[in-house]
Amino acid sequence: MNPATGKPPFWLLAELTYRCPLHCAFCSNPVDYARHGAELDTAAWKRVLGEARALGAVQLGFSGGEPLLRDDLEALVAHARSLGFYTNLITSGVGLTAARARALKDAGLDHVQLSFQDSTRELNDFISSTRTFDMKSRVAALIKEAGFPMVLNCVMHRFNLPHVGRIVDMAERMGADFLELANTQYYGWAWHNRAALMPTVDELRDAEAIVVAHRERLASVGHAMKILWVSPDYADAKPKPCMSGWGAVFLVVAPDGVALPCHSARMLPGLQFPNLRETSVRDAWFDSAAFNAYRGDAWMNDTCGSCDERHADHGGCRCQAFLLAGDAAATDPACRKSAHRGRVDALLDAAAAAAVERTREAPLRFVPGAATGGGLVFRGDAASLALSAPSNALQAATP
Ligand code: SF4
Ligand code: SF4
Repeated sequence: MNPATGKPPFWLLAELTYRCPLHCAFCSNPVDYARHGAELDTAAWKRVLGEARALGAVQLGFSGGEPLLRDDLEALVAHARSLGFYTNLITSGVGLTAARARALKDAGLDHVQLSFQDSTRELNDFISSTRTFDMKSRVAALIKEAGFPMVLNCVMHRFNLPHVGRIVDMAERMGADFLELANTQYYGWAWHNRAALMPTVDELRDAEAIVVAHRERLASVGHAMKILWVSPDYADAKPKPCMSGWGAVFLVVAPDGVALPCHSARMLPGLQFPNLRETSVRDAWFDSAAFNAYRGDAWMNDTCGSCDERHADHGGCRCQAFLLAGDAAATDPACRKSAHRGRVDALLDAAAAAAVERTREAPLRFVPGAATGGGLVFRGDAASLALSAPSNALQAATP
């Protein structure tokens, strides 16, 4: 065991499948997901859950893609419950019928996180490239009827930030216990769509002020719903404490069994992540070179290594450092001390310039089966294969 690693994972995120009926333009699944190997089967997932729990993991998220597409979800939930995990289902809602909600409750599921893409049918359906808004509204009611605590999650970007007050109203109406307003993190599909998704700093500030006002209103009437505003690190010039530190708290297992410190890390060059088909969770977590690559602070450059914030933000995000600076060991370019901060400022300047043009834009319109629209590429198998083909021009997009 590497003595520097110390603690076991607290959180296990089981990405059961990358299959998903939705096509969100900001999806955090890898852009090349269609080239990944076969999913772990039920027995392999049960073994992984057992090993992670034996190591000390307590919180378990079933995620994807859409985990409800796995017909062994109830069996995996029941197994996780028998092991003593606190279980969360992270879902788009597609496939959650009343019967399935009851079956998951009976299996011992503790908690459900339901994603919405917006408070309006038009934008929800446009950005996910599916007609799902009405279905999601019905699923929210089913989740409450089944007696689950419910988080509504909404990824925020320049299209839906002006609707933030209506999104809060919607969550309140639906009886959400918690609303997570997650400003887009620019990895995966969002990285490819960054020019279209990125809001201006002013748009973010306006939206945050509305969130603060809603928080105060809810508190003043003793309303229990909590709102989390996930910091837009580009605009705040403050790196996020990504995954609470590399290999410190979170263990992500991809559908094909690859163990990762975060769902994006697989794109980083030079790291060989262990596959849990061949490697135990204990060996992967404590002893693999990949999980030890950015643990602690010995890997940091002088900027982070001499900074008082290094134990609070862990030097920010390695994937962001790679995407923006071309070096996974660089200071996160979101940080104002980073030598590459100018690249983030250039993206924000471009967003501000684009905002001037917006009034002339055609209204967004959902077109069934469309692979692109509104300057966006929607997530899907064909787009995944095209974007990850070495010869494709889109792959060569520069920061
Ligand atoms: S972000 Fe959208 S497309 Fe991606 S997994 Fe979630 S629901 Fe599916
Ligand atoms: S220099 Fe490094 S440790 Fe300091 S605030 Fe920036 S990213 Fe965090």
